[in-house]
Amino acid sequence: MSEHHHHIAVLAGDGIGPEVMAQALKVLDAVSGKFGFTVSRKVAFVGGAGIDHCGKALPEETIRACEEADAVLFGSVGGPKWEHLPANEQPERGALLPLRKHFGLYANLRPGVCLPALTHASPIKNELIEGGFDILCVRELTGGLYFGQPRFREREGDDEVVVDTMRYHKSEMVRIAKVAFEAARGRRKRVTSVDKANVLTNSLLWRETMIEVSKDYPDVELLHMYVDNAAMQLVRNPNQFDVIVTSNMFGDILTDEASVISGSLGMLSSASVGAEVALFEPIHGSYPQAAGKNIANPMAAILSGALLLEHFGLKEEAETIRQAVDHTIRDGFVTEDLARPGERSCTTTEVGDRIRARI
Ligand code: NAD
Repeated sequence: MSEHHHHIAVLAGDGIGPEVMAQALKVLDAVSGKFGFTVSRKVAFVGGAGIDHCGKALPEETIRACEEADAVLFGSVGGPKWEHLPANEQPERGALLPLRKHFGLYANLRPGVCLPALTHASPIKNELIEGGFDILCVRELTGGLYFGQPRFREREGDDEVVVDTMRYHKSEMVRIAKVAFEAARGRRKRVTSVDKANVLTNSLLWRETMIEVSKDYPDVELLHMYVDNAAMQLVRNPNQFDVIVTSNMFGDILTDEASVISGSLGMLSSASVGAEVALFEPIHGSYPQAAGKNIANPMAAILSGALLLEHFGLKEEAETIRQAVDHTIRDGFVTEDLARPGERSCTTTEVGDRIRARI
């Protein structure tokens, strides 16, 4: 990958995926034109589109397109059309989980951001979040309770027993800790490690490991918080957090909480990183009710493009996208999910055009 040329795989997927992806690409083109770099792309089918065109949710040619790329820009997958299929063949299970596995995407970075101009859209009392908030959740994605063996359900005399196993290697904890500390260095230099060290052996090693890794980052402050308290603190005072690092299951729950308090799902993007290719996507799904109506908020997809540029080391370029989104919101050009009652709302395309014009 040369400094001025990057190659990405574009997997728009289903529902509103293609509509919001079109806006993200429009904005990427504007930024690359302004700053003089190129992003070539290969478009591939995924999810329901993969099933319809190639017979499966993650076709081989799509995997190849991702392998040949420096990064993947993902839209969203799923919809009622494919819900009758066996669970493992459905768009989400059949595409997203295998993609994560194939590329060893062990860290999920999910911003929980509420811009100052959007505090009215957050369910949190506005006096608690004046000026908005900006949290980055770093969730371990490939270990822990969701993958540990053994897992089973069996009869035990007259009773039944179920077992799930929470299993982590220290090496998995070390690598996720490094992702969090590195991220914090580029932000407000504070990591809150979330665990349940008062109950779980897993969390004891987690906490020890975080402390050990933190010694290589003396410029970053490390705090520890139990997961139940973290869930409460997120809604009481989100501004106390900079980077949150946590295990797979705790991260699953806390990242959803962080997205809800941010206001609209249509604003939030995420990055999944591993040893090889990284993947960038809005956190929302395919919002089938809005598909084809040109009403979905394209900002999450556009901001996924900013995360992608940051991954390529193009910080100023990424910041340019964020500023353009911020200005567009403050100018009042927003889709219906962000419009105040009685305010006019814009179409998906219009918002994309406004952001492009701001670049
Ligand atoms: P969803 O995110 O598609 O929609 C939930 C609600 O969030 C919508 O009703 C809408 O009010 C709001 N919303 C979402 N995106 C928005 C946008 N861009 N602009 C404005 N509002 C937006 O979640 P769902 O309804 O639970 O799932 C729909 C489909 O998406 C399902 O098939 C599900 O499996 C799939 N899904 C895919 C992904 C993914 O591709 N990563 C993630 C979640 C859900």
